[in-house]
Amino acid sequence: MIKAGYQIETASPGAMLREQKQTGTPLGIDADKLTSRGQLVPDRLIVELVKSWLETHNGSFVFDGFPRTTGQAGALEEVLNKRKTPLEVAFSLDANFSTIQDRVARRMVCGNCGNIVSVGLHVGNAESRCPRCGGPLHRRSDDNDETLRQRMAEYREKSEPLIAYYAERGVLRRIDANRTPDEVFAGIATILEK
Ligand code: AMP
Repeated sequence: MIKAGYQIETASPGAMLREQKQTGTPLGIDADKLTSRGQLVPDRLIVELVKSWLETHNGSFVFDGFPRTTGQAGALEEVLNKRKTPLEVAFSLDANFSTIQDRVARRMVCGNCGNIVSVGLHVGNAESRCPRCGGPLHRRSDDNDETLRQRMAEYREKSEPLIAYYAERGVLRRIDANRTPDEVFAGIATILEK
C-alpha cells in the first residue's frame, strides 16, 4: 500500500530470499533451511542482499522486515550515512500474538506474481486463484504454528531490542497493527506526510 500510494520503492529481504529459493540459487537453498525453521538468516548475508539492492536504487525507499537485529541496524546506519540519506522513520507494527497467529493462518502467496493475500479478506478460500493475475496461491513454508512460535522467540531475543535502538535515535513510530489494513495504512500515511 505504501509502494502504490507514494510510488516509493520497497525492499524485503524475506521476499528476496523466497525469490532466490524459487530460482534455486545456493543462497536461496541454504537460507531456506533457516527460514523454514523460523530462524533468522546471518546478518552478513542479509546486509549483502540489502547493500546490492541499494546499489541500484536511489531516492526514497521502505524496508520491510529489515533490520531485524541491532547488528543489521548498525550496518544500515553506516551505509545510509555514507549516502548522506539518514533513516527518517522506523515503524514498529505492534500486534497481539492472536492477531499474528490468525494472519499467518490466512496468508497465501501467489506463485506467479508474488501477491500476498488473506483468506476471508482478499479471497474466499484456500483454493481460490490470485485476484491480481489468476495464478495459483500457496502457503509459505514458514507459515505454520510451530515455525511461528520459533519466529516469535527470535523476534523477542534479536529484534525487539530495535525498539529501544530506534527510540533512542528519535525515529521510532509505533502503530497499532491489530486493526484493518486500511486503518493501519492510514496511521502510517499520517506519519509519512508530516
Ligand atoms: P519475512 O518475509 O520478512 O517474514 O521473512 C521470512 C524469513 O526470512 C524470516 O523468518 C527469516 O528467516 C528470513 N529473514 C527475512 N528478513 C530477515 C532479516 N532482516 N534478517 C534475518 N533473517 C531475515
